[in-house]
Amino acid sequence: MLAEILTIGDELCRGEVVDTNSSWLAQALWELEVTVAWMSSCRDDRPDMERALRDATGRADLVVVSGGLGPTQDDLTVDVVAAMLGVAPVIHEPSRKLMEERFAAAKFRLTPNNLRQVEVPEGAFVLANPVGLAPGFEVSMSGTPVVCMPGVPRELKAIFTSAVKDRVVALRESRGERVQRIARRIYRTFGAGESHIATRLEGVGADSAGTSIHYQAKFPEVLVKLVIRDRDQSAAMERLESLDSEIRERLTPDLYGTDDDSLPAALGRALMNVGATMATAESCTGGMIGALITEVAGSSAYYLGGAVTYSNEEKKRQLGVSEATLVEHGAVSEACVVEMARGARDRVGVDYAVAVSGVAGPQGGTAEKPVGTVWVAVVGPRGSATKRLQWPGDRQRIRRLTAHWALRMILGALRDDSVDRAQDDPRAGQKASQTAERPGGAGAGAENE
Ligand code: ATP
Ligand code: MG
Repeated sequence: MLAEILTIGDELCRGEVVDTNSSWLAQALWELEVTVAWMSSCRDDRPDMERALRDATGRADLVVVSGGLGPTQDDLTVDVVAAMLGVAPVIHEPSRKLMEERFAAAKFRLTPNNLRQVEVPEGAFVLANPVGLAPGFEVSMSGTPVVCMPGVPRELKAIFTSAVKDRVVALRESRGERVQRIARRIYRTFGAGESHIATRLEGVGADSAGTSIHYQAKFPEVLVKLVIRDRDQSAAMERLESLDSEIRERLTPDLYGTDDDSLPAALGRALMNVGATMATAESCTGGMIGALITEVAGSSAYYLGGAVTYSNEEKKRQLGVSEATLVEHGAVSEACVVEMARGARDRVGVDYAVAVSGVAGPQGGTAEKPVGTVWVAVVGPRGSATKRLQWPGDRQRIRRLTAHWALRMILGALRDDSVDRAQDDPRAGQKASQTAERPGGAGAGAENE
């Protein structure tokens, strides 16, 4: 089944609104195994819309339309579709009732043009809008099903998910197509480039039909999407679970979560699991690490604070970095970030502290420390880990990659420490002291990009 997505709106064609509806619909249809063969956009203009609809229904087996269902004079979709079908626009009474109730509840006065929003072409199959006023609808134009939805992305998604999805499956079945169900999981990684990640997963699921793995570099992360198709949902889910542990193993240590997870949220969970607290000492990131951590609701349970120490003076004053270290090694050095992290850990009084110092550019690079050189240190109850990173790219990229790497380093330290704790066996005597640097521990290889 070949589909066309048609998005309507002056703002789209003027470049004022980015057409995210098309990409969202394309993905949603792809997941329903419908091939989107055409994507087009046109202005809020009667002849243009007629032409676009005629072209689309002439070549596609299904046309999905977004936009132009609002109350104003430039919202023409109902009028144009009705005219092409030779029917009148009629008010959809259940939607009108709903609108009147919502307006009354909000103490808004109905204006006559509001009624335009609840019109549909006479005889259309109405698709209820669970989150807005204008309903969607489906009509048949020269034998091709045409589904129209509002342009507001939230409403479009709600109508598609609640009503259009099942309709698409039914259409495919009526065409005698074998409809499969889909299970999918997104594995979220940070720290390795797309090609490295793909190499590590080579061969996974290769012997299982209907299994596919897709990679998406979504700066600064790489997402791995596992998609399994099977005759029913539970069979697909079962096969997905059977591949899960192997994928997780192969993506270690870059994997931090799945689906809607985020790196700061994963770090928060890891800290809370062991009841640990943390602090930050930031130079080139200027507070970005703290900002990321505090994006997570409830982060006050484990993040106590820290210092943004941009100048050498503040590194000394707020964190106790020694003059000798700064003179001998400079601010962008292993010795400096270790002292920064120790200072933050001791002065804030936490279990873990992370410190970063680097050359974000575009000025300030030297032969020895070019732009993109960054040192990161984590100090925890069992010792410290440091890493020298060398990032490509501009100032913003370098700062964002560094901030994410800092989070990853603490996660790595937490993981290593929990492994160490599990291995500690009091009957076997004292384990060797763990104050050694662990450059490999919190994530070997700055193979980003
Ligand atoms: P409304 O009732 O708001 O008028 P509508 O169905 O008439 O809804 P439009 O007027 O085309 O839809 O668009 C409403 C708003 O939705 C636009 O201003 C824009 O912000 C957003 N929008 C419209 N089309 C798209 C699209 N293709 N991608 C992303 N956003 C869109
Ligand atoms: Mg509108």
